[in-house]
Amino acid sequence: MNQLAMSEKAQPLLDAVIAHIRDNVDPITEEFHKLGEGRADRWSHAPGQLELLETAKEKARESGLWNFFLPDSETGEGLSNLDYAYIAAELGKNPLASETMNCSAPDTGNMEVLERIGTAEQKEKWLKPLLAGEIRSAYAMSEPNVASSDAKNISTSAVLENGEWVINGEKFYISGAGDPRCKIMITMVKTSPDAETFKQQSQILVPINTPGVEILGPMHVFGHDDA
Ligand SMILES: Cc1cc2nc3c(=O)[nH]c(=O)nc-3n(C[C@H](O)[C@H](O)[C@H](O)COP(=O)(O)OP(=O)(O)OC[C@H]3O[C@@H](n4cnc5c(N)ncnc54)[C@H](O)[C@@H]3O)c2cc1C
Repeated sequence: MNQLAMSEKAQPLLDAVIAHIRDNVDPITEEFHKLGEGRADRWSHAPGQLELLETAKEKARESGLWNFFLPDSETGEGLSNLDYAYIAAELGKNPLASETMNCSAPDTGNMEVLERIGTAEQKEKWLKPLLAGEIRSAYAMSEPNVASSDAKNISTSAVLENGEWVINGEKFYISGAGDPRCKIMITMVKTSPDAETFKQQSQILVPINTPGVEILGPMHVFGHDDA
């Protein structure tokens, strides 16, 4: 039978995460949401909200509860996915919790990609501030005009012209793209439409302030804000 228990090694970290959420995140949650009430742009933060969040981030950093999502790397705790699942279950109980420990999606997946396969320059420019919790990021795959659950369908094109990648397409449901702190999008594009089916696609880093990038608006799911 599969062993699905958390390892003993991870128990102290889980305990510390639970204590951090109880002592530093739960107490600021009501005030955080109150401060945000009635703000003009729901994807930005109202005055005071980020400062409050930063106090909890600082406490997490001081306790070493930072970036532990990264499996088997110099920057993470070396947790297995199974151990992380137990911790993620706790993080999910308060929507602010993950961000206070720099373990929130979509930054986690994006940081892992950059950490694993980014160039030294990409790491310096994007991974470093992401690991420090100074900026946020997005992952841009889904598109309105294709069934995006099958990533082969992605149709945004990227063509190399005179040494520059020219990208054309529209994405939707891109979580976090509306957050003013989001500075970089890992974007799925088609670079080789004539190659065999699974070799047509690439991921390209698109700084959000690139000329031509237009954020059209936030998305809703069943009438609720999301993405
Ligand atoms: C809250 C939220 C956050 C998201 N965040 C992100 C994000 O950060 N970045 C990002 O890139 N995307 C994001 N997405 C988009 C998400 O990845 C896509 O919605 C998902 O992959 C499904 O693609 P789709 O919406 O095009 O649906 P479709 O692929 O069109 O699927 C619609 C329905 O058709 C079915 N279907 C599809 N193909 C077939 C087939 N061949 N045969 C039979 N049935 C089929 C599916 O099972 C589904 O029930 C987010 C979505 C939500 C709801």
